[in-house]
Amino acid sequence: MKRKTLVLINPANQLRPGFHINRKTRNQPLGLGIIAALTPSDWKIKILDENFKTFRFYEADLMGITAFTSQAPRAYEIAAIYRQRGIPTVMGGIHASMVPEESMQYVDCVVQGEAEPVWETVIRDFEAGNLKRIYKSPLVREILQPKPRRDLFHPGYICAGIQTTRGCPMNCSFCSVSAFNGRHYRFRPVEEVLDELEEIPQKYVFFIDDNIIGHNNESKERARVLFEGILRRGIKKIWLSQSSINFADDPILLDLAYRSGCRMIFLGIEAEGEGQLIEANKKLNLTRGVNSYKRIFEAIQHHGIGVIAGLIFGWDSDTSASIRDRARFAMHCGADSFQTSVLTPLPGTALWDKVTADKRLLFSDFPGDWAHYDYFEPTIRHPEMTSEALMLHIEKAKRKIFSPFRIATGALKTLIRTRSMSATIMLTLNYRHYRNIFLKGNHG
Ligand code: SF4
Repeated sequence: MKRKTLVLINPANQLRPGFHINRKTRNQPLGLGIIAALTPSDWKIKILDENFKTFRFYEADLMGITAFTSQAPRAYEIAAIYRQRGIPTVMGGIHASMVPEESMQYVDCVVQGEAEPVWETVIRDFEAGNLKRIYKSPLVREILQPKPRRDLFHPGYICAGIQTTRGCPMNCSFCSVSAFNGRHYRFRPVEEVLDELEEIPQKYVFFIDDNIIGHNNESKERARVLFEGILRRGIKKIWLSQSSINFADDPILLDLAYRSGCRMIFLGIEAEGEGQLIEANKKLNLTRGVNSYKRIFEAIQHHGIGVIAGLIFGWDSDTSASIRDRARFAMHCGADSFQTSVLTPLPGTALWDKVTADKRLLFSDFPGDWAHYDYFEPTIRHPEMTSEALMLHIEKAKRKIFSPFRIATGALKTLIRTRSMSATIMLTLNYRHYRNIFLKGNHG
């Protein structure tokens, strides 16, 4: 009997290249690798990845596609090609999970939520000719994730992605992590993560967790066991991850993180002003106080780990002066690199509920307008400024943050702060890549 073929597609936003402008900042489509691993072995599976190659039709019995919100128009466009040929289409991922009624208009079937608990049923139903319109996945306590099929990823990825935890107890107004993965912080078994790490061919690894150490003693203990496990097994990787500012609290954990290969950590700073942090509902940053950032960065750098600070522009409380202040803050706060975004309301967030209730969306001709929701331009009508004026102030701030002088002197500063050559090289390259993404590469 002929093997059935499942084609899995990672679409790219056609409006702007964003992170996929640069090979070094592209992220592997981990979700598709997990779906592939969950699919019975008598299926043939192919991943088409627009991070590397523009989509071209590939014959299949079933097509699966994922999308962040800004990729949704492209996902629907590709799904239409398969549907025209009578090939059933399934969509999962965060966008379809947050607006399933919309997605169901463009695909035959939606998987809402984490796919692991339901994917086997999807395949079984398809094989029985009984594919349903929607599969709602319950939020289970454990992470049921198998090892992703990494053999199906494009070989051009320089950095491999791996997930060790899901969920976040915080509820930042602009973030949809808790709506998708829940507010309970869940861990994968450490030995399972270590087994997977050992099989990753790349030297560079991105722990894509939203917070690698979590927020309580149990989660910190889990991080300690993970870092010690990397050392115990002699796994030689250089890794980066994301965390909240409590990453700086525990010198023993920081030392372990460094020795296990951590050289870069992304921290969600968001803003230097209390008004903006209140809008963001960024409780931890408010509790620690905006004057604590420099000390926090130094504590991390002292252990050889460089800091990427995430900053957001376009808060309701932002003015031309506060945007200038944020750029000035970036110059003097002591972080080693920056990720800059324009505040964007994504479905599933408190911010979305607020601005849609107030009818303040600048782009609302959906699904096509979702392409604008990629953090690069204002999508919310600002109470005080036109979006052109807001964008002008943001561009000015970004030109300061990513100035060639800052980048040229940044390397020496990072070396002095971290005393780590590998951290310095990584942070310097990261700063340059982010300049290309956030300053030069915004306009497709
Ligand atoms: S921004 Fe970070 S801390 Fe806030 S809810 Fe999202 S994952 Fe949690």
